[in-house]
Amino acid sequence: QRIGLAKAWITGQPPGRVFLSVYDVTDLRRLETIRKDFVANVSHELRTPMTMIRAMAETLQDEAKPEDELANRYLPRIIGEIDRLSMISHDLLQLSKAESNPVEKQTCDLAAVVREAVDHLHERAVEKGLALSYEGLPLLVVQADPTQMSQIAINLVENAINYTTAGSVVASVREEPEFAVFEVKDTGLGIAIEHHRRVFERFYRIDKGRSRTTGGTGLGLSIVKHIAEAHGGSVSLDSTLNEGSTFAVRIPIGE
Ligand code: ADP
Repeated sequence: QRIGLAKAWITGQPPGRVFLSVYDVTDLRRLETIRKDFVANVSHELRTPMTMIRAMAETLQDEAKPEDELANRYLPRIIGEIDRLSMISHDLLQLSKAESNPVEKQTCDLAAVVREAVDHLHERAVEKGLALSYEGLPLLVVQADPTQMSQIAINLVENAINYTTAGSVVASVREEPEFAVFEVKDTGLGIAIEHHRRVFERFYRIDKGRSRTTGGTGLGLSIVKHIAEAHGGSVSLDSTLNEGSTFAVRIPIGE
């Protein structure tokens, strides 16, 4: 059996006595794999019935007569809730993939990935009256999984748009000696210091009411964190309540 973790510490015993505690984490790892596979499978299996329920609810909505008060009141809400369920299962699937699949690194232009995310979300920003722009290097090559880089970019830019009521969102990439840095800066609601660490936890939301109206799942930042760390990088947050936030992802160059 593989011994996964060994920990030793010196207690207040007479000098020369060391207690070595060894934990076998093989079973824990196996359970963890089962959990991740289970979440991925459930998320995947839920997609087909949800698509079908949505299609049927939409047909009922299309066929409802103006005097069908109950149908007109409830069907849009049913469809809205199905969309929410679909988002949760989509994000759970992304998270479990990020957690369990080995990173498939390839040469990837981070600047292009971020510009694409900005283009993709441009209309959403305009609808909210926000200025969304890309300001950064024209090209920044890293060894990374391009799909996962795109997930990070979309999650962070989408959040910046969701949690900003006025002003701007700026996405950029730059180079540090060992890292490619991807940053998203907004002039939005900001995050009080006591939440800075917790926002990266699964399902953690600062204001559940506020987040619910923005339609989030509470999984976006944990996906970002997992992907960044799986690439040997990190994510950091600099934010002041009511002033805005800057999220920065660091990916090692040339690994
Ligand atoms: P959600 O799907 O709720 O957006 P995330 O994991 O992406 O979940 O984010 C967790 C919480 O962190 C959000 O619910 C929100 O409260 C806060 N948050 C994330 N990004 C920002 C931001 N740019 N500005 C202010 N708050 C943010």
